[in-house]
Amino acid sequence: MITDADHWRSRDLAVLWHPCTQMREHPDMLPLVPIARGEGAWLIAQDGRRYLDAVSSWWTNLFGHSEPRIAAAIAAQAGQLEQVMLAGFSHEPAVNLAERLLAIAPRETARPPLAKVFYADNGSAGVEVALKMAFHWFHNRGQPQRRKFVALENGYHGETLGALAVGDVPLYRRVYAPLLAEALFAPSPDAYLAAPGESAAARAERAAVALGELFASHDGEICALILEPRVQCAGGMRMHDPVYLKRARDLCDAHGVLLIADEIATGFGRTGTLFACEQAAIQPDLLCLSKGLTGGFLPLAAVLATQDIYDGFLDASRERAFLHSHSYTGNPLACAAALASLDIFESDAVLARNRDTAAHMAALAAPLCDLANVADVRQAGMIVAFELTHGGDRHTPFDPARRVGLHAYRAALARGVVLRPLGDIVYWMPPYCVTPDQLASLADTTRSAIEEATA
Ligand SMILES: *Cc1c(COP(=O)(O)O)cnc(C)c1O
Repeated sequence: MITDADHWRSRDLAVLWHPCTQMREHPDMLPLVPIARGEGAWLIAQDGRRYLDAVSSWWTNLFGHSEPRIAAAIAAQAGQLEQVMLAGFSHEPAVNLAERLLAIAPRETARPPLAKVFYADNGSAGVEVALKMAFHWFHNRGQPQRRKFVALENGYHGETLGALAVGDVPLYRRVYAPLLAEALFAPSPDAYLAAPGESAAARAERAAVALGELFASHDGEICALILEPRVQCAGGMRMHDPVYLKRARDLCDAHGVLLIADEIATGFGRTGTLFACEQAAIQPDLLCLSKGLTGGFLPLAAVLATQDIYDGFLDASRERAFLHSHSYTGNPLACAAALASLDIFESDAVLARNRDTAAHMAALAAPLCDLANVADVRQAGMIVAFELTHGGDRHTPFDPARRVGLHAYRAALARGVVLRPLGDIVYWMPPYCVTPDQLASLADTTRSAIEEATA
């Protein structure tokens, strides 16, 4: 019998090329799930089946799907002004949002605050903006030899060629390596890589020493360090001690290097604080935001910069200006969604409630440490990750051909939960509206999925 879902799938596969997918695995290994609507933490399929969105639809959604207040703000804005180019023109949502982002951005009292906002359309585009700004700023200051970027091993900053050049996740990078500008990679402070008996903080200190050596050996050639504070998300939800960020901030200052914090995934409360930088009390020179920025409704990125960086572009010459643009820069609908999302943080005391939810997640995750093939369970705020290895031994990963992660994905999906592992790392990054009952069933399903996939 051909069901509606089968019919839909064949229409889809006839015309669509899906992201981050080996299309040959459809339809057999990976049945497409046609989604009709979303409601809170639920995705509701065309056949009426409900799936708990435990990964917040690729880390975008904050308060649940189709959150009515954000939906209403977008609708109201659409009836008023849907788009106008931001070169030569201005509009209320773009200005309001910039003011509010600057007011909540990470802040070090001893440092002039982040003072200007440049908009882009998605995370990767935001990273491109930050990289180009850093290079161009030094260029304008008569230091064009500062053109190397330093990034961290196992880091991820997006898929466009500039962003990919500072990324170090082989799966996404390897094929394109011949096209990529050369970057310098410093060891990751990742606590999972700590030597036996070494604390997370000691591991972070050791990685900072290596970063200092790298800076010293390329003194005067580096324009910026880019990193994901606290959690390397696409690199497998690998977490590090905040002390690394303090050391990195100091090293950047000592060597005249700009610090770019990529909080595209960690921003807006994912790691427990509004921004992960706060956990080390550091302020970057450039801050990249996207994903949760609009509550998960629309693509938008914001790059926050210091006044000093902004001033470096002011000149009679057009070439000294930052001429970068995207057609939809500062789109009013996306800005309206972001403003509504920031309102919810205030009206619903979201961060305080998340502290309870995170404690609940910790309690539910702890027993899964005892599963035979779980090597590590780690948490940063609203992110929990389970590292699956053979026998739970850190040094014995599963044979990639076993596709343990894929099997866990399918096992969870069959039970009505969306887990989308990163390799053999299963993780939870639920919308903040997730309820205790939903978390309890998420934990049960995760246990079953891990047991089934690693059996
Ligand atoms: C997702 C992500 C990006 C890229 O954002 P897109 O909107 O997918 O282009 C960049 N940096 C980090 C840390 C991310 O998690």
